[in-house]
Amino acid sequence: MQQSASVRTYPFDHDKRYYPLSQRYRLLFNQRVFKISVSVAQTCPNRQGTHGMKACIFCDEWGAAAYHADAQKSLSDQISLHREIIRKRYNADKFLVYFQAYTNTFGRGQEFTSMYQSVLLEDDVIGIVVGTRPDCLPLGILKTFQKIAETHFVSVELGVQSFDDQQLLFLERGHDSACSIAAIKKLKALPTVDVCVHLMFGLPGETDEQLCRTAVLLSELRVDGVKLHNLHVLKGTPLDGLYNQGLFQPVELEAYARKVSVFLEHLSPQIAVHRLTAVANRWDDLVAPAWTKEKMRPAQFIEEYLTAHDIWQGKSAAFY
Ligand code: SF4
Repeated sequence: MQQSASVRTYPFDHDKRYYPLSQRYRLLFNQRVFKISVSVAQTCPNRQGTHGMKACIFCDEWGAAAYHADAQKSLSDQISLHREIIRKRYNADKFLVYFQAYTNTFGRGQEFTSMYQSVLLEDDVIGIVVGTRPDCLPLGILKTFQKIAETHFVSVELGVQSFDDQQLLFLERGHDSACSIAAIKKLKALPTVDVCVHLMFGLPGETDEQLCRTAVLLSELRVDGVKLHNLHVLKGTPLDGLYNQGLFQPVELEAYARKVSVFLEHLSPQIAVHRLTAVANRWDDLVAPAWTKEKMRPAQFIEEYLTAHDIWQGKSAAFY
């Protein structure tokens, strides 16, 4: 539905000024559902040198794993361990298994397919979430997603980070924005597969106009979710080197909150927001900014910023 911007009415009947993932899960599953993060992939195209690269400049050696020590445990042990913790903490009884670390569709196609299928044999696991890159969606994996999505929830979390090719070069991602758009279209062609796009804000050369364009593009592509991160510096990464030389300065919380608000204002309110800001999994490894170490305050600050400036997701969206 195409409408002119600036005539939107407030679309939410909950207490957030954006469409949170928890709300989407409630609508989809009629109950609270929690993700169990597992580490089974051990590498990615960049670390394999497929594109003549070593790693994205922000990525530490654990490839974004929530629990890097788990890589030594079997998949079923990882699920049992974290399921119990989540069950006790949130009184949860339905779960999605999140294949998070590295690239979970890179090579080993049959092995990944078997792992996806094996976790769904657990009674309380109702779906899978697969973290991957735009350039790692071979036809066989797409067919696997399609097949599993006939009976279970399947979500693909795509590391896009930016749609600006200069910024993608700076991040040393090894793919361009055209590749990301093609990947989203391929996934959206699978009717029941949920597509979440990971983005980073606080990149060199980023403008408000760029943030608006990204929001409009994702709204037009009808992605199902976005996960937002501030570009932050982890110890031992190439970005750490740039930071030490004074060649990169991470964005402060207020400036980041403003960027998020610009983006959300132009994003369709039908797109779920998985996360407003990065969360440091290993606090000792965080170099900067210090505010990323704080557990609750950054998200609260952003929510208060939205309220103080009377901004909500989709307020000025040109496309729903
Ligand atoms: S962010 Fe992903 S693709 Fe980039 S180096 Fe880390 S694991 Fe590899």
